Amino acid sequence: MLLTLGYAVKSSTSPFEPFHFERRNPGEHDVVIKILYCGICHSDIHQARNEWGGSTYPMVPGHEIVGTVTQVGKSVKKFKVGDTVGVGCFVDSCRECSSCKDHEEQFCAKGAAYTYSSTEMDRKTPTFGGYSSQIVVDEKYVLSISSKLPLASIAPLLCAGITTYSPLRRYQVGPGKKVAIIGLGGLGHMGVKLAVAMGAEVTVLSTSPAKEQDAKRLGAHKFVVTKDPKNLEPLANYFDFILDAVSAEHDPNMYLNLLARGGVLAIVGVPEKPFTLQPFAVISNRRQLVGSLIGGIKETQEMLDYCAKHDITSDVEIIPIDKISTAYERMLKGDVRYRFVIDMNSLG
Ligand code: NAP
Ligand code: ZN
Ligand code: ZN
Repeated sequence: MLLTLGYAVKSSTSPFEPFHFERRNPGEHDVVIKILYCGICHSDIHQARNEWGGSTYPMVPGHEIVGTVTQVGKSVKKFKVGDTVGVGCFVDSCRECSSCKDHEEQFCAKGAAYTYSSTEMDRKTPTFGGYSSQIVVDEKYVLSISSKLPLASIAPLLCAGITTYSPLRRYQVGPGKKVAIIGLGGLGHMGVKLAVAMGAEVTVLSTSPAKEQDAKRLGAHKFVVTKDPKNLEPLANYFDFILDAVSAEHDPNMYLNLLARGGVLAIVGVPEKPFTLQPFAVISNRRQLVGSLIGGIKETQEMLDYCAKHDITSDVEIIPIDKISTAYERMLKGDVRYRFVIDMNSLG
């Protein structure tokens, strides 16, 4: 077994502390990855604190992983020692169901093996995530990373990047489309960069007036502060597509009313509490309320290649691993521009 050092929480209220555990020896199809950087997603906070229920402990979060291949199993074809690679939100799936066959492993009928707070497909072996020194993953679930862009800034693409890219593509965001992104956080700022690169007119809907300059720098054409609902009145029936990337309780009905005929509001944010839907908000203009969950391996690779081609990375603040708790507190206050990334060298 491979002795591994990570940072874990032992319960929903405990602090992060160093945690020693074992990863499996690489099998025929596995690659061993020395983790260099891991992004901090708001889902890590929701799960570490058991806000969605079903969390398992001890928990080593982290699903925005980039690193270097240090060992490969004897049948591995895609990778060799020294390659730069990534791992996202899941590390295996059944490979047989229609979702797996359609390259949408995130919807695996048997339940994908999520990167942490989950189990391998044997449904026994717990999975531990990227706040750690190394990870062992079947090559099918490992992504190729271009060495062209700064590695720390690529890590967040493995979740924030694919979670925004996938619905933008599915709903054909591009030239002539009016798009809004709600919540300029880790996901939201990637949504802005990607929608701008795809050629759409992009508006940021934010609760934070201080983010206006950043939104413009990221390429947004308009910035609207949502705290005063009056500011939204001129935007009624305006947008073709809205991405809701908000992590906390809010009212999506207010945003549905901004959609033009047949427009789509895609929810990717997962606040702890449910909301009430006003039927008229979707009946009017035949609006569509949809959800989206990360993306499959094939689409994640497509997104990484798209970002390499268009020089798109995340805006990051790099932190040592003993500052995770501070980073969580700062994220909850909206004090991050726009993703914390752990430098795994700091593990020592
Ligand atoms: P984040 O970096 O913390 O950003 C969340 C943003 O939401 C904040 O920057 C803020 O933007 C806005 N916000 C916060 N509190 C708010 C409130 N009370 N009312 C309105 N807006 C508020 O989080 P993230 O990592 O981007 O994740 C966002 C959400 O997506 C989380 O719930 C996460 O679990 C979920 N997620 C889902 C998927 C998926 O596959 N569906 C994947 C990854 C993450 P402003 O300051 O601009 O208002
Ligand atoms: Zn995530
Ligand atoms: Zn499956």
